[in-house]
Amino acid sequence: MTDLTELTLTDALKGLKEKKFSSVELTKAYLGKMEELRRLNAYITETPEKALQMAEESDNRRAKGEAGKLEGIPLGIKDMFCTKGTKTTAASRILSNFIPPFEATTTQRLWDAGAVLLGKTNTDEFAMGSSTITSYYGVTHNPHDENKVPGGSSGGSAAAVAAHMCAGATGTETGGSIRHPASFCKVSGFKPTYGRCSRYGVIAYASSLDEPGVLARSVEDCARMIEVMAGHDPKDSTSSHREVPEFHKMLDKNIKGMKIGIPKEYQELLPANWEKAVQFLKDEGAVLMDVDMPHTEEAGMVYYVISQGEATTNLARYDGARYGVRENGETLDEMYMNTRMKGFGQEVRNRMILGTFFTSAKGYHDYFVPAQKMRSLIKQDFDKAFEKVDVLFSPAVPIEPFTIEEAKHGAAKGRFNDNYLMPSCLTGVPAGCANNGLQVIGRMWDDATVLKVLDVVEMCK
Ligand code: GLN
Repeated sequence: MTDLTELTLTDALKGLKEKKFSSVELTKAYLGKMEELRRLNAYITETPEKALQMAEESDNRRAKGEAGKLEGIPLGIKDMFCTKGTKTTAASRILSNFIPPFEATTTQRLWDAGAVLLGKTNTDEFAMGSSTITSYYGVTHNPHDENKVPGGSSGGSAAAVAAHMCAGATGTETGGSIRHPASFCKVSGFKPTYGRCSRYGVIAYASSLDEPGVLARSVEDCARMIEVMAGHDPKDSTSSHREVPEFHKMLDKNIKGMKIGIPKEYQELLPANWEKAVQFLKDEGAVLMDVDMPHTEEAGMVYYVISQGEATTNLARYDGARYGVRENGETLDEMYMNTRMKGFGQEVRNRMILGTFFTSAKGYHDYFVPAQKMRSLIKQDFDKAFEKVDVLFSPAVPIEPFTIEEAKHGAAKGRFNDNYLMPSCLTGVPAGCANNGLQVIGRMWDDATVLKVLDVVEMCK
């Protein structure tokens, strides 16, 4: 084996177990790749010293027979997850000096399972965007075509996975931010049911939508990571007490007789591999049928009203008084204004201004409440569909990645970016994107079936 970074997470685990190489060797290989491909700007912060120390500790644990589920596996962590003692910025200037004194629950679980931190990956500022161009630290380049964006907001994680600069990475979704870059970078991505993963220590964008999840080279790799991250956390009252199955053991590649719905509204634009994939699932014994999701079109509007309303509340905490960057002023008000004006980028400020309006007395009545009502109707679309079918199947993002130049002129806001992604965020159902850009959405808490079908979808090359 010449290049250890060629191995998937699952194969690397096997190699470590069989003592073909150590975690230190594997980690060094990834650190080398990160250095070689630094121009992609996939990482905001690299933590090579910490990585080597963690790898060494991992090797010692393994030698003592105390290997965890992800023992020795080097990972990238989206810079929305607070990592104790390691700078965490949310890709914003306002947090450019923030070193969290605590660790997110989901990342703590990865370390407890033996994983190794390689660094913090780039994202759109506060996860607001679909391209990473809103990052204060510059755009990430798509490893398959460096003139193009990696998608977003978890674009640094997707690029790092695609370019073999980590074995897997964490991401977050609020309105599609794992599946979008997974599709653009041709990697697998999964966001579990809302409430599966604790949001404790994940920098908040819109709390009723935010979901931690994963990106990796295969669905099996994703399953292995998510089963470690998921589970109840007393520090997040919205996290579920439900038991977390060993998802990776449930990938039996058998979808015979499974009912798969294709939403009519998700077929407006279809990628080149679509027909072949539909035929493939039929050949595997699935029963495919069309379903109606009549409120799909409204999801984008509903998403923006709700997410911006929640964002303006969540981001009020960045006032220069407690932590993060402070810009002084003559008065306290001036200090607040200077800090927020210089600390946040344009996109974040725009969203907060709109969010303030949507949650004002008039805006609340005219926009926020109607959006919540529409959110219920979107939920009903899913409930009705799942009376007939086990999962839904569609493209994740039906367009090809756009260039960085196009992103600067608004391509990241184009309608086909998030249409097929946002409804499943508004309803909290589990959803994932296979490394061929096709997505599967499932019933609440039925993460296992989504992963199982995705694993089959991924066999269609
Ligand atoms: N692209 C969407 C946005 O710009 C979704 C972001 C997300 O899921 N964090 O807000």
